[in-house]
Amino acid sequence: MGIPATRSGELSDRPVGTVLVMAWVVLGAASALVALAPSAVAAFLEEVLPVLSRHVRPEKAVYSPIAYWCLLTVAWGAHRWRPASPGAFVTAAFRQDLLWYLLTMASRLLFLSAFVAVLGAFYRQHLGFLEVRAVAAWHPAAQFLAGVMVADFARWLSHLVRHKVPLFWRFHALHHSQRDLNLFTDARVHPVDRMVSATITTLVLLSLGNATPVVMAWLVFETVYPKLYHANLRANFGRLRFLLVTPQSHRVHHSVEPQHHDRNFGFIFSIWDWLFGTQYPGSDDYPLTGIPDENFPLESSGTAGDLLRTTLQQLWYPIAGGPGKR
Ligand SMILES: [Zn+2]
Ligand SMILES: [Zn+2]
Repeated sequence: MGIPATRSGELSDRPVGTVLVMAWVVLGAASALVALAPSAVAAFLEEVLPVLSRHVRPEKAVYSPIAYWCLLTVAWGAHRWRPASPGAFVTAAFRQDLLWYLLTMASRLLFLSAFVAVLGAFYRQHLGFLEVRAVAAWHPAAQFLAGVMVADFARWLSHLVRHKVPLFWRFHALHHSQRDLNLFTDARVHPVDRMVSATITTLVLLSLGNATPVVMAWLVFETVYPKLYHANLRANFGRLRFLLVTPQSHRVHHSVEPQHHDRNFGFIFSIWDWLFGTQYPGSDDYPLTGIPDENFPLESSGTAGDLLRTTLQQLWYPIAGGPGKR
């Protein structure tokens, strides 16, 4: 017998609860062990997964599992306490987006890193004159701050472009198609959309050269924070919303309601939206999300076969015409 469903594709809490709690404890213990043994992780990456070690910084591999575990704990707890819309934590939508997350990781490994390297080579060959060389001489803290702000602005700009150019919107609409926002909706991104985004952000970032120092804690935060604000949470973070993107403001970005369209493009900071007039001022709206296309291939049962079939249909959706202009 399968796991009983409370509504289409949604699992009831009771039988899954024990399994989830056990998985949560095991994952937490494993993540803590990884964080406590950095040299063992580095050796593991070098010797057992040499391909992976070329793409993943060992420090990030050490601290990401515990960061993800904390994220899961906070989001799960907050979802039980104050969800933006009622429903279980693990739904068919959650599993579909988790599959998108795994596909994103695979595509990063197999393809996206190489694409960014080619882009870097092209930049150095033809656009090197755009580089602001003085940055290399700055104080490391100033370099870090400039790197963080320029990267965030580049992501804001790339997001705006992917909404405003109709061809790019076709591909970005997949990200907006989720009616049941969850932690992993952050990864529900078409590979073409990801390439457009990587191109714009990489080109802007290369203007700082390779001088920007990498602060590992920031890299890890930047990975998990967008997942937190995609979760189904009723939270606007009070006055912090004037600085940061929040679960409430990003829900408005995903809204079905026309007055919310093309608002709140921020990645980490909301300052660009406030500055350029694209911030939606309401901080208590928790609208329904999705795109107005009844024919969009949404996930239904959440079984493995359904998830794989739906992924292929969602990949094909923009090529077949997408949602049209809105
Ligand atoms: Zn968007
Ligand atoms: Zn989003």
